[in-house]
Amino acid sequence: APSGCGKGTILAEVMKDEKFYYSVSATTRSPRPGETDGVNYHFLGREQFEELIKTGGMLEYAEYCGNYYGTPRDKVLEKINEGKNVILEIEVQGAMQLREKCPEAVFVFIAPPSVAELRNRLEKRGTETPEVINQRVSETAQEISFAYRYDYVVVNNILEDAVNDFISVIRAEELKAENQKNIIDEVLKNA
Ligand code: 5GP
Repeated sequence: APSGCGKGTILAEVMKDEKFYYSVSATTRSPRPGETDGVNYHFLGREQFEELIKTGGMLEYAEYCGNYYGTPRDKVLEKINEGKNVILEIEVQGAMQLREKCPEAVFVFIAPPSVAELRNRLEKRGTETPEVINQRVSETAQEISFAYRYDYVVVNNILEDAVNDFISVIRAEELKAENQKNIIDEVLKNA
């Protein structure tokens, strides 16, 4: 989802369950007050980031509002192999790259209730200059048109509802027949 849609807040709730792993992205943007290197992002210089792109270290990456953002590949693969549900919190260009690379991934678009409300939230957060807020709001309006290419859309109006919607999506995915092979085999045992 675009920034300011409340992804962070929704995911903070979801991440309380240990079966999830939150992929920490790399970025060239500067840390906001309160952000910690290695926790919110791996904060890198442009050269470092470009080196990682060159050596295939990024599962996906994009340039967004003048900075690079990307998902370090190795950690994600390691956690998938451990059987975790890996969550990537990324913008649309990166999501579309992943759609090609990982067709089995599930794509959830988190939308703000309106563009006006998004602006309101960014202004309240107060971590960006008015110029950056304008840039992000117009970027978002464009991103929302990509929502149809996702599997699910969760509108973040009331936080608790959005969290429940997101958890429902994950549960629905778990219950898909194709993901229940072991359980079906178990049911059929000794038939
Ligand atoms: P922010 O600067 O507000 O933290 O993030 C700006 C945008 O970049 C958000 O939409 C966020 O989801 C996205 N983003 C964060 N990490 C990644 C990443 O690893 N890859 C891509 N493609 N986008 C990311």
